[in-house]
Amino acid sequence: MEIWTFLIGLLGFCARLAHVSSDLDLEGLEQVSASFEHAHPLDILRWAGDTFGDDLLVTASFGDAVLAHLVNEAIPDAEIVLLDTGYLFAETVWFAERLRRDLRINLRVVHPLGDVEPDQWQHDPDGCCAARKVEPLERALAGRRAWITGLRRTDSPTRTDAPIVHLDPFRGVTKINPLATWSDADVADYSEVERIPAHPLSDRGYGSVGCWPCTRPVAPGEDPRSGRWSGTTKTECGLHVGGGERRGASTSGLRGRGTP
Ligand code: SF4
Repeated sequence: MEIWTFLIGLLGFCARLAHVSSDLDLEGLEQVSASFEHAHPLDILRWAGDTFGDDLLVTASFGDAVLAHLVNEAIPDAEIVLLDTGYLFAETVWFAERLRRDLRINLRVVHPLGDVEPDQWQHDPDGCCAARKVEPLERALAGRRAWITGLRRTDSPTRTDAPIVHLDPFRGVTKINPLATWSDADVADYSEVERIPAHPLSDRGYGSVGCWPCTRPVAPGEDPRSGRWSGTTKTECGLHVGGGERRGASTSGLRGRGTP
């Protein structure tokens, strides 16, 4: 990397960090997060909308429609981004478009840059995720102050300590995980009560839906997220780092379908 490119990036990061710090300092974020431990995701989302307004960005993997539905209820104008890696299941893209039409969500599909390496997942999955997920996320977040995700603590052992609100130190934005405390049962209950449509692959054994080269269906009783990067030590794509989320290699005890 050119030294000037690195320095410009570093300056941009410091500027974003200073901007966030002027909203709420780290202690303030911790207090807000603690106050939301027993709050409904709708209340957390309304707080986020009131606090950050148009500076909010939501990302959803559309493995289910729960986050999109909640966001649409609480902050209907919020932009919901689908990071289309180029390797998503056709069913996921169809599902997101159906929700755009039926729920009138404010959907934006973000693609990788044009010069990404084809089929990098075959020999360098970390590099593939960096180019097809992390870079597009950071491009989408440019100029925003807050990022809402569908991350849940029950997704994996690397996410069990995830705060509800915290600073993402790598991107200089306030990260909000309104579903952090929800269990699989909570998600199922909300989906049933609100009659939310299911992802087309959910009844075909796909407990967690990611990119087709890196996702396999799971057997009944198997941890749903064990179908992601199956047979490797990879458990995270690089989007969720720097909070209570930890990088980890274990694939035991993984659950959840909602986040990349
Ligand atoms: S999940 Fe697989 S195909 Fe998708 S971006 Fe990561 S390595 Fe590439």
